[in-house]
Amino acid sequence: MNRNHLVCVTGGSGFIAAHTIRGLLERDYRVRATVRDLSRTAKYSFLNQLDGAGDRLELVEADLLQPGSLREAVDGASTVLHMASPYTINAEDPQRDLVAPALEGTRSVLEACRASESVSRVVLTSSIAALTDEPDSNHVLTEQDWNSTSSLSRNPYHYSKTVAERSAWTFMEEQRPGFSLVVINPFMVIGPSLGPSLNTTNQMIRDFITGVYPGILDINWGFVDVRDVALAHILAMERPEARGRYLCAAENLHMRDVITVLRDGGYGRNYRLPSMDLTGTAATMFVKLLSWTQPKDTGTYMRTHLGRHLRYDNSKIRRELDLSFRDIAPSILETAEDLVRWGHLPAPGTSR
Ligand code: NDP
Repeated sequence: MNRNHLVCVTGGSGFIAAHTIRGLLERDYRVRATVRDLSRTAKYSFLNQLDGAGDRLELVEADLLQPGSLREAVDGASTVLHMASPYTINAEDPQRDLVAPALEGTRSVLEACRASESVSRVVLTSSIAALTDEPDSNHVLTEQDWNSTSSLSRNPYHYSKTVAERSAWTFMEEQRPGFSLVVINPFMVIGPSLGPSLNTTNQMIRDFITGVYPGILDINWGFVDVRDVALAHILAMERPEARGRYLCAAENLHMRDVITVLRDGGYGRNYRLPSMDLTGTAATMFVKLLSWTQPKDTGTYMRTHLGRHLRYDNSKIRRELDLSFRDIAPSILETAEDLVRWGHLPAPGTSR
C-alpha cells in the first residue's frame, strides 16, 4: 500500500518536482513537499489543486541553508527525493547563490536522513552538469564521467551540481548510513509546467522564439521531457535494485533542429525565430568572440559548448529503470504552447 509510504520532495514548487509530486499522488503515495517560503502562496498553490493533494499532500517550509528545517521535513519519510537546488546560469555571487545551497543543502539533507532513521532511500537530482561542462565530440558520455573542469569562475552552476553530487557519494562512502542513494542526471529538461514559474530551460525555448539569438548557432543539447524525468525519479525510488547514477536524456538536437520543429509547428510567423546560419567554423569563431559581450557565465557557457557535438549513452536508465523516453519534437511544441498558456509568451498573432 503506497499510502503507507511518506515521500519527502525538497523544492516542491520546482518545475521537475511538481511533476514528480503529481506522479507520486497518482500512485497513491503520501507526499511532504518543502517550499522555501509558505507565505508566497502564488508560487506553489497549484500543488494543492493536484488530484489527491487534499488528503495526501503536506507542504512544509524548509531552506537548504537551514539544517533544522530539513530535519523536520524528512522526519518519518521512507524516501526523500532531493530536488531543490538553485538553477540559474548567471549568479551575482556563485559561492553564495549556487554552491552553498547546492552543497550544504545536499549534505544537510543526507545528514537529516541519517538522523531520522525512517529513510531507506534518497534519490538526488544531479545533472549533466556533474558529468561535463565542455562536451567532447569524440567521447560518448556515460555514468562513469565526472566534470573536472568547472569552478566558481567557469560554469559555476555546473560546479555547484558537481560538488553537491560528489559530496553525496563521499557521504555514503564515509558515513555508511542506513539508506541507499540513487542519483538522476538529467540533461536539458523541457515540457509543460504545472506552475506559473518559468524554468531556466523553458526560458531558452522562449528566447529562441522571441529573437534573443542573433542566428542559428552550432550547438546541440540532449533534451528530455519533464514528465520522463519525474517518472525516472519515481522508478529510482520504487526499484530496490536501482543503484548508482542514471544519465537521463532522450534525444540530441542541434539548435537548427529545434528551430525547424518550432517553425514547422507554427512559431515562424508573428515571432522572431532566428534564421541566419551561424554554424560554420568562421561564424562560430565570431560568435565565440561576441560571447565576451554577454553576461559572464552565459559567455563561458557559450565558449565551452559552441562547436561541440554532445554524445552520450542512455542505455543504463532504459535498461535498469525500464524507462522509455518521449519524442522530443512534440515536447518542444508543448513547451511553446505552455509558455503561451502561462503568459510567458504572447499568443500567436499578437506578437510582432
Ligand atoms: P526550478 O528552478 O524549477 O526549481 C528549483 C527548486 O529549488 C525550487 O523549488 C526552489 O525554491 C528550490 N530552491 C532553490 N534554492 C533553495 C534554497 N536555498 N532552499 C530551498 N529550496 C531552494 O528547477 P528545476 O525543477 O529545473 O530543477 C530541479 C532540480 O533539477 C535541480 O536540482 C536542478 O539542478 C536539476 N536539473 C534541472 C535541469 C533542467 O533542465 N531544468 C537539468 C538537470 C538538472 P524556490 O521556488 O523557493 O526558489
